[in-house]
Amino acid sequence: MSSITRLHSRAELRSWRDSLSDSVTVGFVPTMGALHRGHGTLFHAACEGNEVGLASIFVNPLQFNEGADFKRYPRTADEDCALLERSGVQAVYLPDRIDMYPDGYETRVRSGPGSELYEGYHRPGHFEGMLTAVFKLFQRCRPDRAYFGEKDAQQLWLVQRMAEDLDLDVEVIGCPTVREEDGLAFSSRNAFLAPEQRAVAPIVSRALYACRESFTAGERSVALLERGMHDLLRSEPLASIEYADVVDERTFRPADSDQPGPWRAVAAVRVGDTRLIDNLELGDARSPGMT
Ligand code: AMP
Repeated sequence: MSSITRLHSRAELRSWRDSLSDSVTVGFVPTMGALHRGHGTLFHAACEGNEVGLASIFVNPLQFNEGADFKRYPRTADEDCALLERSGVQAVYLPDRIDMYPDGYETRVRSGPGSELYEGYHRPGHFEGMLTAVFKLFQRCRPDRAYFGEKDAQQLWLVQRMAEDLDLDVEVIGCPTVREEDGLAFSSRNAFLAPEQRAVAPIVSRALYACRESFTAGERSVALLERGMHDLLRSEPLASIEYADVVDERTFRPADSDQPGPWRAVAAVRVGDTRLIDNLELGDARSPGMT
């Protein structure tokens, strides 16, 4: 069995990357570890679409707006490396904080208005920290293509925007959300859910799917689509809503019935101390519904 190459520093990564010929394409998957089946589809896509698959694991302190969340974020290095071994990825970059942000580090990548609402509003500084790390990882890894999950749809949108706006020459590819049988999207944070919380957590995807059903049946009132999600989520006492909205996915701004574009339902819900996010494509609002 081939064993994965572990790259612990920028210098090791650079010499591995330099050893690849220019004609070899590299597919890159940045992660924060605690790997699960959702990550697995990204590794699969990176290996299918490129000659070499490369992953990174870095719990990026800059993107955590709550210190406690950073501290308790699951770190499961041994299991992660075993999953990576099986996934076909050839190398994994495992920088530590100093390797990424040496003493004196201070520069940030600032995102535009598409980062102001939803996750950006509820997690101040999160997207700036995320884009800063992703930009640096792109510079260091020099991928041809990079793979991100639709599970974090606003993140995917912002990374695609950054790659285009800053001429990064990386094709940023979105991969569909992978779910448990009961609809709950796989997430590293699901491990924090106590059994009674885990039992109610699928209400988030149920609200999104119910919203899509209304949309497909012809509902084009953004207010009514959002109210439907809120009503369902409010029926669960253990769940508290941060947002459950319909966005125009071309801009990541609120959907507007007068300017129909492709719409997406997005939600963030706390179950106990655990914050769950999920989203679902609704479709093109110009197309007539079923009724
Ligand atoms: P993370 O390790 O949580 O930063 O996630 C790394 C990448 O995996 C991101 O691009 C996520 O969007 C993606 N991802 C996380 N969960 C899922 C999932 N359930 N399905 C598909 N992609 C996912």
